[in-house]
Amino acid sequence: MSDTPLKLYNSLTRQLEPFVPIHHGEARVYTCGPTVYNYPHIGNMRAYVFADVLGRVLSFKGYKLTHVINITDVGHLTDDADAGEDKLEKAAAAGARSIWDIARHYTEAFWDDIKALNIRQPAQWTVATDYVPQMIEFAKGIADKHCYELDSGLYFDVSTVADYGRLARSRTDEGEGRIEAVAGKRNAADFAIWRKTPPGETRQMEWDSPWGRGAPGWHLECSAMSGAVLGFPFDIHTGGIDHREIHHPNEIAQNQAHTCSDHSGAKIWMHNNFLVDRTGKMSKSSGEFLRLQLLIDKGYHPLAYRLMCLQAHYRSELEFSWEGLHAALVRLKRLVMAVETVRSGAHSAEGDVTSIEHVRSHLDRFEGALSADLNTAEALLWLETMPSLKGIGPVEKFVAIEKMDTVLGLGLLHITRADLRVRPKSATITEAEIETALAERKDARAAKDFARSDAIRDDLTARGVEVMDGDPLGWDWRLAI
Ligand code: AMP
Ligand code: ZN
Repeated sequence: MSDTPLKLYNSLTRQLEPFVPIHHGEARVYTCGPTVYNYPHIGNMRAYVFADVLGRVLSFKGYKLTHVINITDVGHLTDDADAGEDKLEKAAAAGARSIWDIARHYTEAFWDDIKALNIRQPAQWTVATDYVPQMIEFAKGIADKHCYELDSGLYFDVSTVADYGRLARSRTDEGEGRIEAVAGKRNAADFAIWRKTPPGETRQMEWDSPWGRGAPGWHLECSAMSGAVLGFPFDIHTGGIDHREIHHPNEIAQNQAHTCSDHSGAKIWMHNNFLVDRTGKMSKSSGEFLRLQLLIDKGYHPLAYRLMCLQAHYRSELEFSWEGLHAALVRLKRLVMAVETVRSGAHSAEGDVTSIEHVRSHLDRFEGALSADLNTAEALLWLETMPSLKGIGPVEKFVAIEKMDTVLGLGLLHITRADLRVRPKSATITEAEIETALAERKDARAAKDFARSDAIRDDLTARGVEVMDGDPLGWDWRLAI
């Protein structure tokens, strides 16, 4: 490990700042988790790939990491301005299923994607409905000085804290989405801490509170859980860039009220930019949308998507396209092949004496890239050049690649070329059939029966198999996707 200090972009100050832990040798990180009323789309998963890389870099740098990600299984409304319905209650009503079943189903689907993308398990998943007593205690602590009650619930008065909206650079009376959706609010930006169940109605998820039966507000959840598990102030809070505008300013206001200080609750607030899709299939509420499973069904290994994320800086917008994903898959294949070659010791024939200095300076550059606000795109280049470096034996290369892969998390030491050949869901031909046909074709070519060889190739093409003679990566065929 080199001494390059880690610098991270703090959305609060809009500046790069050195990471200086609050507790010596530790890093405490909270990541806003998904709202589990539907499957996550691949844009959502970009937020967790980013948080994962951040956690891996902190571990690589030697910090003892405590990472917490929440699961929002109650309270997130269909509209950020306190209007609309609870997303989970709405999904339950539409599907005539219990809200608890829905939350469980989509939480598990989210965890499947987490695993498929090699995202490390955090120290703790905090499930919002497990923390309702802490949320009520939190609200009780700030109610007198900072909140007021309306028929619909308990509201936070944003004019009671200093510098409200500094994260979003907005004021109490303006900003994106600041529509006064609830009659009686003192400021347009005031938000619900507790949502009372309307008289005569019952919600599937509701609890007793000093303000009547109801459910916690979404922003309250993250403040109560991050404070309860990590303690204020903690080091880093992450989320997608949309959270910089409303959710996180509201968390900050609550944290200021709770700690009776101007402290935002976390030292550094980090936000990943969006994955955008021009075809409009990214919205969870728009029927068929881009899920990780859709990529797999089309024959793409999920780690090709992880690589696609790493190719862009987390603060840049990333445009999704199938061509881009295909290019990422080819790049991943090349990497896996190069690592296989190193593993098999083919380069040992060079007979060079390994220069430890050379390995170290290469690793330093790799770490330098990541230390500069997680420049994964550059770090990837250092990883890619390692297998072909001159003057380094295969064992040292392998050890260096292993180190690099612990940070980038592409699983290069565990996946094989065969793993990357994911069978598209629509494929009808089996791999054994393809291999048999290709063996026949090889025999036909050896016997100079080119008519037969071409006929076999045409037949395979008709069945969705592209034959790739002389492919530099050594792939003889692929199922067209
Ligand atoms: P949600 O389940 O809607 O609360 O979102 C989960 C996470 O995904 C949050 O951190 C969002 O900010 C983030 N997010 C939502 N859409 C995108 C997107 N298109 N690209 C990247 N991150 C996103
Ligand atoms: Zn949150």
